[in-house]
Amino acid sequence: MEIERHEYDVVVIGAGGAGLRAAIEARQQGKRTAIVCKSLFGKAHTVMAEGGAAAAMGNVNSKDNWMVHFRDTMRGGKFLNNWRMAELHAKEAPDRVWELEAWGALFDRTKDGKISQRNFGGHEYPRLAHVGDRTGLELIRTLQQRVVALQQEDEKLHGDAEAYIKVFQECTVTRLLKDMSPAHGPGGAIAGAFGYWRENGKLILFDAPAIVLATGGIGKSYVVTSNSWEYTGDGHALALLAGAKLINMEFIQFHPTGMVWPPSVRGILVTESVRGDGGVLKNSEGKRFMFDYVPEVFKAQYATTEEEGDRWYTDQANNRRPPELLPRDEVARAINSEVKAGRGSPQGGVYLDVSTRLPAAEIIRRLPSMHHQFKELADVDITKEAMQVGPTCHYVMGGVEVDADTAAASVPGLFAAGEVSGGMHGSNRLGGNSLSDLLVFGRRAGAGAASYVNALAGRPKISDEAVTDAKAEALAPLQRSGENPYEVHHELQRTMNELVGIIRKEEEVSEALESVEKLKERAQGVGAAGSRIYNPGWHLALDLRNMLLVSECVAKAALLRQESRGGHTRDDFPGMSPEWRTKILLCELTPDGSEVIVQEQVQPPMRDDLIQLFDRDELKKYITEKELADFDALAK
Ligand code: FAD
Repeated sequence: MEIERHEYDVVVIGAGGAGLRAAIEARQQGKRTAIVCKSLFGKAHTVMAEGGAAAAMGNVNSKDNWMVHFRDTMRGGKFLNNWRMAELHAKEAPDRVWELEAWGALFDRTKDGKISQRNFGGHEYPRLAHVGDRTGLELIRTLQQRVVALQQEDEKLHGDAEAYIKVFQECTVTRLLKDMSPAHGPGGAIAGAFGYWRENGKLILFDAPAIVLATGGIGKSYVVTSNSWEYTGDGHALALLAGAKLINMEFIQFHPTGMVWPPSVRGILVTESVRGDGGVLKNSEGKRFMFDYVPEVFKAQYATTEEEGDRWYTDQANNRRPPELLPRDEVARAINSEVKAGRGSPQGGVYLDVSTRLPAAEIIRRLPSMHHQFKELADVDITKEAMQVGPTCHYVMGGVEVDADTAAASVPGLFAAGEVSGGMHGSNRLGGNSLSDLLVFGRRAGAGAASYVNALAGRPKISDEAVTDAKAEALAPLQRSGENPYEVHHELQRTMNELVGIIRKEEEVSEALESVEKLKERAQGVGAAGSRIYNPGWHLALDLRNMLLVSECVAKAALLRQESRGGHTRDDFPGMSPEWRTKILLCELTPDGSEVIVQEQVQPPMRDDLIQLFDRDELKKYITEKELADFDALAK
C-alpha cells in the first residue's frame, strides 16, 4: 500500500491558536512548515472560546500590569505553576494581543477607542481582551488570515503559495517517529510523524526533524464535558509514546457552569462572562450561596455582602469582588456541594441568573452567543429567566513537560504549546489565560523549533521498520471483528466521570485504575467493520489508545497526590499541604510501553525577585516553613 510522503523542517500538529501561532513563527523564521489537523481547518477548540484573552494592557484599569497578572495566575494555580512560564506569559501577553490587532483582529473597544477588557474570575482588574462572546473565533480568523498572507507572499516570491507553509486538514497523526541511531543520544531524536487522511483512510508520512504538538486537551475521556470530539488526548499520548514526560495530570478543570438540560447538550459551556458581566448563582431557595464558600486564602479579596459585591461592578477601587468570581475550582466545588445538599435545580444544577441583573438589550449585546445557545438548545430566554448550570470537564492543566523559554520537551526535536503542554497554569487555570497562553507559547514553540532545526548537524532519518510498525498499528482495528469501540469509550467516560471526577477518594480512584486496566485489554481487541473511507468507528478505535493512556496518567497521579489543590480535590485529604506544593508529579511510560509510571519531582524554588512580589501573609498560606524562612532572610 502506497504511503504519501512529505518533507518539512517543522510539522505542527494542531491548528488551534497554539498550532497556528507556532506555524506562523516557524515560517517567519524561514522554515518549511506543515500544519496538520484532524478536524477542518478553523474548527479547533480555540474557535469555541468565548470570554477573551487575558493580557495586562491596563486599558480599563491603569493599575494593571504584568506583575499583578503574574500574581493572579500564581494564586489561581495555587502556587504550583511553573513560575517562569507564568512570568513570560504575563509579560508577553499584551504584545501578542496587539500583534493580533496589527494582523487584523477587531476587538471590542473602550469609549476612548482602546481594546476593551472584561472582568473574569481570579483576575484582579478587567483584563480579558474580547470580541463579544466570540473571541476565539476572531483569534482563529486572524491567525488564518495571517497564514494566508504569508502564503500570498510565498506565491509572489516562489511561484507557489504552499512552498513554505501548507495545511493538511482532516488528517490525524497516530505516531511520532524517531531516529534511534547513537548519534542522536540514548533516547533518539524526532524524525517525523505518521498518520492517515480521515476522508479516505490513506496513509501519510511526514519527514521532519522538529514537531510541535498543539493538539489541545483530553475532555472526551469524561461523559460531561465542554470539549468536542477532537479532544481525545492525542498529543499527550503521542508525547508519552515518544518518550516524553507529562506533568500535573491530576489537575483537571471542571468549569462550574456547563448546561445541564436537556441531556443531549449536557456539559456545553456557559461562559464565565455571564458572571463577569453581573450574573449571579442561586440555589433552589433563591440564596446567593457563593458567599458561604469563600476559602480562607481568598477572604481578603472578596466581598462579604451582596451589596458590596454589586457595588464592585461600577466601583472597583472601593469594593471587593463578588464571590461568584472566585477561581473556577472554588465555584465548581461550591455548586457540587449545593446540589449534594439537596438545594439544586430540578435538573441537577443550580441557577445562574443574569435576567434580573441587566436590561434585556444589554444581555443580547454582551452575550449574543449565550442568548442564542439557550434559545436554540434549551428553549430558555436568558433575558427573562435563569439558566440551570452545573460543573463540566473543561480543561486539563497537565501536559507535556516543556522548557519554559523554548517549549522544548525532553525528546530532542519535540516541542509542545497550548493546552497539550503542562506547567503554566499549575493546579488551576484562570479563565482567559488559555488564549493568551496559546499566543505566547505558540510563538515560543515555533521559534524554539526553528532554532533547533538551525542547530542540527544532520537530519534524523525515519527507519523502514518504524513505518511498518506505525502502519500495522493504524490498520489493526480494520482487520479485527472485535468489540465495538464505542462501548469501551462509554465505559471509560463513565469511569472517569464517576470515579476520578470533581471530588476524589482513594477507593474510587483505585477502582477506576482497575477498570482502566481492563479497558486497555478490551481496547486491544476492538474492531471497526467497514472500509477505510470515513469510518468513525476506526478513528475512535485509534483514539482509544490515547484516551486510555491519558486516563491512566490522571488516575495514577490523582491517587498519589494526597492533598486537595486546584483541579484535584481529595475527599480523604481535604486541605492544601505546603509540602505537596513543592512537588510535581511526572508521568512516563515504562520502557516496554505497557504501563504509566508516576514519580515525584521537586519544583525549583521561585526566583527571588518574583517571590518578593507577594506579601508574607499571603505566602504563608501556601509555602513551607523552610521556604518562609528563606523569604524572611531575603527581606532582611
Ligand atoms: P485547540 O484549539 O483545541 O486545537 C487542537 C488542534 O489539534 C485541532 O486543530 C485538532 O484538530 C488538532 N488535533 C488534535 N489531535 C490531533 C491529531 N492526532 N492529529 C492531527 N491533529 C490533531 N480559554 C480562554 O482563555 N478564554 C476563553 O474564553 C475560553 N473559552 C472556552 C470555551 C469553550 C467552550 C472551551 C471548550 C474552551 C475555552 N477556553 C477558553 C479554553 C481554550 O479555548 C482552549 O484551551 C484552547 O483553545 C486550546 O487551544 P489549542 O491550540 O491548545 O488547541
